[in-house]
Amino acid sequence: MKPGDWITIGFAALFGACIGSFLNVCIWRLPRPGLSISSPRRSHCPSCGAALDWFDNIPILSWILLGARCRSCRLPISARYPLIEALTALLIAILAHQYLPAEAMRWREFLVLSALTASLIVASAIDIDLRVIPDEITLPGMMALPVIAFLVPGLHTQPGDPSVHRLAAALEEALSGWGLKPRPDWPEWQAYGLAAAAAILGGALGLQGYRLYRRKVHPQLPNRIRDGLLAGPLFAAASGVSAMLAFDPAWVHSPSCENYLATIIGMGAGAGLILGVGIFGKLIFRKEAMGFGDVKLMGLLGGFAGWKGVLGGFAIACLLGSLVGIWRLWRYRTRYLWFGPFLSLGCLLIILFPGPLKAVLDWYMSWFR
Ligand SMILES: [Zn+2]
Repeated sequence: MKPGDWITIGFAALFGACIGSFLNVCIWRLPRPGLSISSPRRSHCPSCGAALDWFDNIPILSWILLGARCRSCRLPISARYPLIEALTALLIAILAHQYLPAEAMRWREFLVLSALTASLIVASAIDIDLRVIPDEITLPGMMALPVIAFLVPGLHTQPGDPSVHRLAAALEEALSGWGLKPRPDWPEWQAYGLAAAAAILGGALGLQGYRLYRRKVHPQLPNRIRDGLLAGPLFAAASGVSAMLAFDPAWVHSPSCENYLATIIGMGAGAGLILGVGIFGKLIFRKEAMGFGDVKLMGLLGGFAGWKGVLGGFAIACLLGSLVGIWRLWRYRTRYLWFGPFLSLGCLLIILFPGPLKAVLDWYMSWFR
């Protein structure tokens, strides 16, 4: 660690606290019809409705200076506001520590993971408040992920995952075996034609997948524009990959493409795991064990953590969830427990600290040998 790195981390923490302040607004407004992120412009006291001045809106500090009370109505302000701000500051500072050291700046990874962290904080708080994980967060995230996977190939914590590497090799072999590879003696138009055909086919498959998903999960998605925004990136990614693979099957081994594969497999693993647990739980306990919001959330998390990471994150979530569940049963006599925050925390821990967690897991596994 150089002195400059501490300055970066300090700025990241300040930046994180301001983002946290914005997240508080999102947590309050996103699930409430009639309110939007941009209007009303200024924040209001939830008790008396008084508009807040800028000096009463400084992250963490204002809450302390005001003595946790509203300036006009003197009613208490929840400690959750500064807690969310402090949590966001902490997590973004950790991300800056991992991804922004002076000798190896990784800005793209830092920004993408900061956006993920912010989304998880909002989704978790709304899950705790209202027992729903908002689609506004999970769906656009899942649709944008395949594109992000291409643009930020260093995103995966295990870039050299041998399972992904083997899958890529099998894919390359299959594509070459089908004679899809343009041969050197082909005229140019034929090679481009093949790529274009693959692009159309891949895009159509992507769109069809989206339509299937929408019919099953969201029979009445209200907004056509949102529909287009969600399906568009998927279409572009699917058709782009198909075209590139038709040009050169060996391209499947490029960092971008392997990252893309790892992302898609991780998304499937995360969503499939919760879906499986949900079906299993329903058969055994005759009761809804997992919500569909959890399935979508884990799809998103799996895309970031990879299939191994998402399994590890799920294990951590179960462990932490049962501890908190027992405490809540004892303290509040309630059996209900939101699972989204634990899934988010488990996977985020895997993404932030892959090294130490792997060491713990290896140590644990060594007992079985
Ligand atoms: Zn007030």
